[in-house]
Amino acid sequence: MGKSHAYRNLKICSKDCLCLFVCPTGAANNETGQIDFNTCIGCGACAAACPAKAITMVPNKMPAQQKKDSKMVSELFKIADSKIEEIKILNYLLKHNPNNHLIKALIHSNKVIIEDLMREAGYMLPQSKNTHNLLNKLKSNSDIKDKVEQLLDKLEVNE
Ligand code: SF4
Ligand code: SF4
Repeated sequence: MGKSHAYRNLKICSKDCLCLFVCPTGAANNETGQIDFNTCIGCGACAAACPAKAITMVPNKMPAQQKKDSKMVSELFKIADSKIEEIKILNYLLKHNPNNHLIKALIHSNKVIIEDLMREAGYMLPQSKNTHNLLNKLKSNSDIKDKVEQLLDKLEVNE
């Protein structure tokens, strides 16, 4: 296995199958539609051949996460909290105006902002310790415990 592996973005794949022709291992021809991590050797031939630019070469080992300043993280959480309050108000307004596209757009935009804030605060990188701590907490929910354990098994901690 090489230092990276290929990842196919199924949303933009035009299914012309060029990657299947150039792949030396058959990894690109996987019944799930995604490229098989275990047989991909990271040669990059599929990414070079893809006319839709749907294939990205992703490093097998992600770089360590940058240290986050605790004061900055706490400020990011405060902003995220205020966005959550805005979403609550917007959801209330939407109940009374279910076809209002502006309200729907504002809810979506606030969710995207929260996602960015959490990413900046170090909660969106799967290999971060924060994410592992969060997943360990989620194990207390018996409905998702098995899935969470499977995910934890696969995610390396790399601070
Ligand atoms: S990187 Fe190489 S081995 Fe991996 S799927 Fe693409 S062509 Fe196949
Ligand atoms: S070459 Fe690109 S567009 Fe064509 S099937 Fe492969 S991933 Fe999809």
